[in-house]
Amino acid sequence: AGLAKFASCGPTLQRAAPVCFQRFCTTTTPTYGQTSVYVKEALNILDFDPQIEKAILNPDREVKVNLVIPMDNGEVNMYDAYRVQHNNVLGPFKGGIIFHPAVNLENMRSLASLNTWKFALLNVQFGGSKGGVAVDPRTLSDREMEKLTRKYVQALQEVIGPRTDIPAPDINTSEKHMAWIFDQYSKLRGFAPAAVTGKPQWLHGIVGRDSAGGRGAAYATREFMTRTLRRKVAGSTFLIQGFGKLGSWTAQILQQEMGAKIVGVSCSETAVYNEDGLDIAALRNHVAQGGLLKDFPGGTGVSNCDTFLDIPADVLIPCAVDGTIHKGNVERCLHLKAIVEAANSALTPDADMVLRQHGIPVLPDIFANGGAVIVSFFEWVQNNQNLQWEEDEVKRELDRYLTDAYDALLREQQQYGSSLSLRTAGYLVALKRLQRAELVRGHS
Ligand code: GLU
Repeated sequence: AGLAKFASCGPTLQRAAPVCFQRFCTTTTPTYGQTSVYVKEALNILDFDPQIEKAILNPDREVKVNLVIPMDNGEVNMYDAYRVQHNNVLGPFKGGIIFHPAVNLENMRSLASLNTWKFALLNVQFGGSKGGVAVDPRTLSDREMEKLTRKYVQALQEVIGPRTDIPAPDINTSEKHMAWIFDQYSKLRGFAPAAVTGKPQWLHGIVGRDSAGGRGAAYATREFMTRTLRRKVAGSTFLIQGFGKLGSWTAQILQQEMGAKIVGVSCSETAVYNEDGLDIAALRNHVAQGGLLKDFPGGTGVSNCDTFLDIPADVLIPCAVDGTIHKGNVERCLHLKAIVEAANSALTPDADMVLRQHGIPVLPDIFANGGAVIVSFFEWVQNNQNLQWEEDEVKRELDRYLTDAYDALLREQQQYGSSLSLRTAGYLVALKRLQRAELVRGHS
């Protein structure tokens, strides 16, 4: 089973333990090998230093620890926990922490490396890492969850830290966990708000972190549509797959700030459709009150299975979990004008290849998914300077980072010709920046 099977969704995730667990019909988890397909493709185009290539293709450090936790009922459980640090030539390692039964070394590696490419493309001065605990968080009480989180910090305190490796929220972890991490790390090593990002806003967090992933995906979609597809967001029709934090904010910002028409939304349980456009703010309210998408009065309930992809629309934005668009359902996407891969690794490489063959442009995850980490970077900068940014400044700077990164993508495409996919262009930008840093820093 992939991470997809249990990943949390629902806009209330930030406030409470996961309220709803994804059960998208057919998904697969990409392995480290699959993620490397894109990197190898870009490396084939470049004249790359072989020593740097070896260094870049393999994680710098992989740590596995066993976390022994006394449970509320008196029993003692042991959980496998990981931190994989992929490459830190650009800056300290950075990556989220996942609590999920399918966590293992393989998917931690894959996701850590994805962060390296993402940060390099976005010009965020971090290196990629990822961590996680193989646990089904639904089986834990709040007390047990806190113990597990604190134990994770205690066990890994030698390899994480504000200048070493900075954790953040990810699947099934939220600002609540980040507050525990901040507290535990500070107890062990002294006051260190920059040791973790995604903290509550009033506890050294940053304004707008909750919506940052969705805001980033919406800004990324705007750049992609206006500069590559030569279409306006206003009036174009969208399908949003996944209505958790990422999907619900992406949909809301696209609709409210850019005039998009969201015609279909799916979630773990069900989906809803309205060809005249769904009222996303009302839909978020409906879900926050425990309603199912299919029962939303402003649309027609439909299945969240692959038939959801048949709904006529211009752009599909997968915002759920990895591997939701794969060989088995990609043919259903051929009526679309484009796909924005807002969720990490939402497309499997074979699905990506089919879309390329049919000339359907894809905005890759390493760009479309950048909002959260860019704002995490701002939070870290803010913590290092002991000050608070205003919301407008966060939005403006996020927009600037994404626009600059899109400039870099287009420059790369111009250099190699428009048949170069945006994904390959993104990996080329990232690899060139990593190589430049490796060369300038020097190695022996
Ligand atoms: N879940 C994100 C990741 O690891 C968080 C990154 C961050 O905010 O630092 O990709």
